[in-house]
Amino acid sequence: MNTEDILDYRSDTFTRPTPAMRAAMAEAEVGDDVFDEDPTVHRLQEKVAAMLGKEAALFVPSGSMSNQIAVRLHCDGGDEFLCEAGCHIYNYEQGTFAQWGGVVARTIQGDHGVLKPEHFVDMIRPENDHSVRTRLVTLENTHNRGAGRVQPYGHVEAICRWAHDHGLRTHLDGARLWNAAVATGISPARWSAHFDTVSVCFSKGLGAPVGSALAGPRDMIRRARRLRKCLGGGMRQAGIIAAGALYALENHVDRLCEDHAHARQLASAIRDVPGLELVPPEIDTNMVIFRVAEQLGTAAEFCERLKAEGVSMLPVGRQLVRAVTHLDVPAESVGKAEEAISKTVVR
Ligand SMILES: *Cc1c(COP(=O)(O)O)cnc(C)c1O
Repeated sequence: MNTEDILDYRSDTFTRPTPAMRAAMAEAEVGDDVFDEDPTVHRLQEKVAAMLGKEAALFVPSGSMSNQIAVRLHCDGGDEFLCEAGCHIYNYEQGTFAQWGGVVARTIQGDHGVLKPEHFVDMIRPENDHSVRTRLVTLENTHNRGAGRVQPYGHVEAICRWAHDHGLRTHLDGARLWNAAVATGISPARWSAHFDTVSVCFSKGLGAPVGSALAGPRDMIRRARRLRKCLGGGMRQAGIIAAGALYALENHVDRLCEDHAHARQLASAIRDVPGLELVPPEIDTNMVIFRVAEQLGTAAEFCERLKAEGVSMLPVGRQLVRAVTHLDVPAESVGKAEEAISKTVVR
């Protein structure tokens, strides 16, 4: 089967820039951003800072770099941060905070990624010669391993208030903050108001080919710029890719509601198939995770058979499969996905 004909639900990172986005990129005005002279990067950074209600923002090549710079901004060697057990910063970024900064993470098991204020009771280490120093709380919204769940706004508010009252900093991994904002009607700036720093991605549901940004107070973002260079993240005529991100912010945020509706449609089809079970059962945004009963084989085997029917999904555990809706899987194709799933199950 031609790869063009496969419906690729593995991740919202599989989007390719649209012709209009490519045109915006081709026409971008550029300069050397290591010298801080790229006008398109400046425009993007100002727009992101404004959308997140922060003083400044820094364009970085990836969300991982953005998060790791943030942890390093808030923590020194021998410091600890609190995070959810399934979060991206802890699980999917090579523990860069430890490799690079001698920083320790303490994980808290949430409910499909969702944390509550009660989880934080007694989580601050005492000040003494035995302990690492607790410095930071990180939250992830929406939560990737939690199947795109939105952290309830009241929890976020209470957890961050608790952190600040106890002298801790707060960082939001908002790789999919845009999805949380569209799903709840709560603006990115309102979500961000509770955090010292916020990381957002342009290369997920927004459909840009490259890039993330870290936003926060001006002095912190100035330091973040030095840390970016330290990690090799200084880029030259980065306006070319910043233009893709700008285009995405201007044109692809509101349409995320279509991805959410598509995910709900897909989930309701999966819910009706014997042997498949949604985990969690609720669909908040653009992700669906489901368990495949052992009689149907492993998740990997299920995905292989599904691919033969023209639909790609991602095994994310022995019996768990993930499907993510995005710009490059049109909502009209949900029928084809449903058909492929029922054929895969009867075999
Ligand atoms: C994708 C993702 C990131 C960053 O990933 P990069 O591939 O490094 O851009 C960070 N956090 C979450 C929750 C993500 O899903």
